Amino acid sequence: MSDSVKVFAPASVSNVGCGFDILGFAIDGVGDEMIIKKNDQNKIVIQAVKDYENLPTDPKKNVAGVAIQALLDELGSNQGFDVEIIKNIKPGSGIGSSAASAAGAVVAVNELLDKPYTRLQLVDFAMKGEEVASGDVHADNVAPATLGGFCLIRGYNPLDVIHIQPPANLWCAVIHPQIEIKTKEAREILSPEIPLKKAIRQWGNVAGLMAGLYTSNYDLIGRSLEDHIVEPQRKVLIPEFDELKLSVMKAGALGCSISGSGPSVFALANGKESADSIAAAMNTVYERTGIDYKIYVSKVSEDGVKIL
Ligand code: ADP
Repeated sequence: MSDSVKVFAPASVSNVGCGFDILGFAIDGVGDEMIIKKNDQNKIVIQAVKDYENLPTDPKKNVAGVAIQALLDELGSNQGFDVEIIKNIKPGSGIGSSAASAAGAVVAVNELLDKPYTRLQLVDFAMKGEEVASGDVHADNVAPATLGGFCLIRGYNPLDVIHIQPPANLWCAVIHPQIEIKTKEAREILSPEIPLKKAIRQWGNVAGLMAGLYTSNYDLIGRSLEDHIVEPQRKVLIPEFDELKLSVMKAGALGCSISGSGPSVFALANGKESADSIAAAMNTVYERTGIDYKIYVSKVSEDGVKIL
């Protein structure tokens, strides 16, 4: 058994329009890399968070440390680990920066301990790590980052994750304006009340999206993405959101909404060509703003954390 492992932990889009706090999917191409080694010190040492010196290296504050500790506590182990995080996803991105670290950490440690847990069980530990970032338990980024594909979090008590294989031709374009929105703050602006009429439209969409994913019905996926509850309250946090959405819909997007708590915005597409046109439309809107941004075009990934 090796004493060291390197993993790729993917970014993820959560909420996915209508599925606030219950849906997420993994994306290819952007993610953290982590190198995790066993040590003899019986403690977790976050050695470096490359390029993001402001991130906590205290293992009780870094999501990777907390997630590993949750796994070790359950296992009754006091094995120590050195953790190096090569962070490619800016924190506060809305594409699961903290979730990638939490998921990557538990998959790597599980590997080094000869796999005592299944990937599904690991989601629970990763979720405990994620809790220190957002102040709340939620698995809609850590589940897809760990398992890949789409994940539906049907319930939390106990955690009930349903993994859904993405339709073969489902692509996405994501724009990440380089401004930080803290999940905690984006949650605080949400009203705790939902008018019944809006709730009915929303759960119709969630069910429609599920049916669309299972039957690869791209039109149904598109018309079900609409979020009547959270997007209207949060879009003020994202510069040019309305124009962005209008432009990507004109460019052929199946649907478009805020990724996680923003500032990233995602659009789903039928095929790579369509996703490329949507990315071009995003670029046209944002190059006028003077705000730095990154755009990712990616297949909805079937893979979660990969052992490199
Ligand atoms: P994101 O959606 O990008 O994960 P969050 O606001 O949910 O954004 O999480 C970012 C917060 O998590 C920051 O306050 C950051 O300091 C904290 N954090 C702790 N550990 C990590 C980590 N390994 N990677 C990213 N963020 C982390």
